[in-house]
Amino acid sequence: MKPTHIEHIGIAVDNLEESIKYHEEVLGLECYGIEEVKDQKVKTAFFKVGDTKIELLESTDPEGPIGKYIEKKGPGIHHIAYAVPDAAAKLKEAQEKGLRVIDKEPRKGAEGLNIGFLHPKSTQGVLTEICDHK
Ligand code: ZN
Repeated sequence: MKPTHIEHIGIAVDNLEESIKYHEEVLGLECYGIEEVKDQKVKTAFFKVGDTKIELLESTDPEGPIGKYIEKKGPGIHHIAYAVPDAAAKLKEAQEKGLRVIDKEPRKGAEGLNIGFLHPKSTQGVLTEICDHK
């Protein structure tokens, strides 16, 4: 099952407000949505670049996944999300191939997407998100 496009690139940021300003004023993109995803302990901001989005991720809890990531590695590219027709099937397929997954089944992410992560140990060091719009 081939991804149709890169749905978004997730970027961990220290300060959402400052990062939004950078993306708007320097890159000329427009922030069209800000959303808190309680489940993942993040506040997100979205920008469209063609079919792909930039998803800024600011931690709302130092113990959350983004809080820990920034503590360890600092701000920067956090993950790449591929759009697929069926995220559940793709996660299943990955497990059948022996890949390590973070999510065995999709859960709800920002913008109502069904999302699941593959573990970077199985994906060439790139935290990889699989998502669909179902
Ligand atoms: Zn994402």
